[in-house]
Amino acid sequence: MTGSPPDTYEAAMRLALAEAVRAGGRGEVPVGAVVLGPPGSGVSGPGGVLAAAGNDREASADPTAHAEVLALRAAAARVGDWRLTGCTLVVTLEPCTMCAGAAVLARVDRVVYGAVDEKAGAAGSLWDVLRDRRLNHRPEVVMGVLADECAAVLTEFFSGRRA
Ligand SMILES: [Zn+2]
Repeated sequence: MTGSPPDTYEAAMRLALAEAVRAGGRGEVPVGAVVLGPPGSGVSGPGGVLAAAGNDREASADPTAHAEVLALRAAAARVGDWRLTGCTLVVTLEPCTMCAGAAVLARVDRVVYGAVDEKAGAAGSLWDVLRDRRLNHRPEVVMGVLADECAAVLTEFFSGRRA
């Protein structure tokens, strides 16, 4: 598989952004994720979307309820298989170590993210779990899709909190 140009995933990132904004409206840190099904698989809905989720850590009082984990779980439930081979995880913020690990375990083909997380990112910033050669599954990584918009949602959320 060859590298994917970032604009291939802009429409999916807009859906993830909508999930992020919804999460922010609920008082959650605004991060959103979608899982795209394998092209032409027939398992996904409009736009190839298999599942979408926003961060739900506060409401569910669950430290693992990050958008990526929730979207991966929902996608796997829909497919009826923990293996999400051929799928693409699209998320507004660079995944943390847990979520990057979950993407590897789910065997997704690709992880697409928007904003860089210099404080906790595990897809190139602090760690690079997704491309670690010691792991036997390494998804393709596409970064920087609508990065400014993804970062702005977070910046606005935290500046609103300080005000
Ligand atoms: Zn995470």
